[in-house]
Amino acid sequence: MNCLDRGLICAAETELPRVVIVGGGFAGLNLIKGLKNLPVQVVLIDKNNFHQFLPLLYQVATSGIEPDNIAFPYRKLFEKYRNVVFRMAEVTHINTTHNKLSTNIGVIHYDYLVLACGSKTNFLGNTDFENFGSGLNSVTDALDIRSRLLQNLEKAAVTCIEHEKRELSSVAIVGGGATGVEIAGALAEFKRYILPKDYPELNSVEMKIYLIEATGRLLQAMPEKLSEKTLHYLSRMNVDVLLNTSVNSYDGKKVVLAGEKSFSAATFIWTAGVKGDIVKGLPRESISRQNRILTDDFGRILTLNNVFAIGDNALIKTHTNPHGHPMIAQPAIQQGKLLAKNLMKLIQNESMVPFEYQDKGTMATIGRKKAVASIKKLKFGGFFAWLIWSFIHLVSLIGFRNKIMVTINWLWSYFTYEKGNRVIIRRYEEVKKSE
Ligand SMILES: Cc1cc2nc3c(=O)[nH]c(=O)nc-3n(C[C@H](O)[C@H](O)[C@H](O)COP(=O)(O)OP(=O)(O)OC[C@H]3O[C@@H](n4cnc5c(N)ncnc54)[C@H](O)[C@@H]3O)c2cc1C
Repeated sequence: MNCLDRGLICAAETELPRVVIVGGGFAGLNLIKGLKNLPVQVVLIDKNNFHQFLPLLYQVATSGIEPDNIAFPYRKLFEKYRNVVFRMAEVTHINTTHNKLSTNIGVIHYDYLVLACGSKTNFLGNTDFENFGSGLNSVTDALDIRSRLLQNLEKAAVTCIEHEKRELSSVAIVGGGATGVEIAGALAEFKRYILPKDYPELNSVEMKIYLIEATGRLLQAMPEKLSEKTLHYLSRMNVDVLLNTSVNSYDGKKVVLAGEKSFSAATFIWTAGVKGDIVKGLPRESISRQNRILTDDFGRILTLNNVFAIGDNALIKTHTNPHGHPMIAQPAIQQGKLLAKNLMKLIQNESMVPFEYQDKGTMATIGRKKAVASIKKLKFGGFFAWLIWSFIHLVSLIGFRNKIMVTINWLWSYFTYEKGNRVIIRRYEEVKKSE
């Protein structure tokens, strides 16, 4: 009988306190780094066997880089960590009374539990958006979008009916935040530099790229001046930006807007919201708006002493951030680093240090050579912002090989205007989603 048959996730028995961490994203990874080789047993549980670098997903979706370039296997990452055990499993339930975690491969006991499960796409309860469209929250989503887009272009190339050609080659992106803006910019370049070469059959019609935003401006999290700059860049790149517009329905072909206006687009990408990815079994009163887990300013779930939440799935209210921090990488990284120190303090009966978010700014890129940045008091856009954006993303990527491969891809694309990864490796099948 193996350990899984006994319903236990086999992690070596130890006298050391066991810290179980669910999720190896930005938050979980930085927590583990801080606990490296300290006197605790760390068990990382993640449903994937790799860490994924979400900020560059849009480049995978638009054929700019390969999926392997933004993923890194956990076992390789922790090969020099003597106190870390990795288990690929999906956590399904938490029993906080008995300190047990149920997963699809068995049960594990914890002394301390940290939930760092991140977020998932929030389709606002609209199953049609979910079934006929794609969110962008994982490498799998990015590959789905890439396959769907390229498959639709293949179909467009062989139909003789003009309106079908237009529908199959057009893309609707919902949500004018950073992800929506970045996909729109990348697709506009695809349309300009790749489409005429790869698909001469589509010269007779115009591929339309729509970016739909419910509020009055793009990039709500940035100063107004940068929203205007972004709108200007995208308009010059022939993206149809529809502000103050919400989508009422989508049936796989027709996008119906509020006010009953409509247009056709066979590719529909939803980037208009995320919500916390939380596991069942937590006290009801600890779940707040956007499905995030309410914690005190140490990241500890309000009614529990040994269960913490950090990163996107946590809502850590502090004096300076009474509504919680934004769901972006920096808070997750900073919370992971601090919790490593705090857990050791807790184990040694010392006082923990409350979390204070250090805002390092926000950036978004709009295609080749253009980006906008808001860093402390500096607000700027253009080539310099794009250089900073590129540098920060390169150094933040996990793995030396990944950094080299992305640099080569970017340089290649910079000088040749090429996107080298427009292959349909695995076909996108709509039926899978609507089942
Ligand atoms: C497309 C996109 C672009 C983005 N761009 C930027 C950007 O440019 N700048 C920026 O600062 N932020 C960006 N973000 C946000 C940023 O990526 C997140 O804020 C950050 O990843 C949060 O880190 P995390 O550790 O909380 O969660 P994640 O990084 O999402 O990690 C969560 C981990 O938990 C695992 N997991 C989830 N549920 C379970 C379960 N039940 N069982 C086991 N494992 C589970 C997942 O597999 C994953 O590995 C972007 C996000 C997206 C989706």
